[in-house]
Parts: sequence; C-alpha cells; structure tokens
Amino acid sequence: MALSKDLLEILACPKCVREPGCTGELEYREAQNQLVCHHCGLIYRIEDDIPIMLIDEALPLEKA
Ligand SMILES: [Zn+2]
Repeated sequence: MALSKDLLEILACPKCVREPGCTGELEYREAQNQLVCHHCGLIYRIEDDIPIMLIDEALPLEKA
C-alpha cells in the first residue's frame, strides 16, 4: 500500500525543516519505499507504511 497524499504533504525532513528558508520537502520513492531529502541528502525508509522520520535512522543518499 502506498502512503496517502495527505500524509506525504505534512511530512518533512526533520533536519531541514529547522533550517531557515527550507521546507524540508521530501521525494517519495514508492518503488523503494523511501523518502528522499535532496537538501541534506538523507533517505528515510518506510516500514509498514510508517515513515521513519529519524535523522539517526536515515541513510546518506550516495550510499543507497
Ligand atoms: Zn533534509
């Protein structure tokens, strides 16, 4: 099951959302079950339709 659009719209990168002028906008990669932040280059995984929005659990984009 895919994440709902409503949920996606409220999700933001917890790291970037604190930066002035940054929305923390995420790209949803449905096939990989990932949310990608292109601002800081972190990937947040989704487990059982629940995005793991923790900086400590995120992976660097270049290693994915
Ligand atoms: Zn970010």
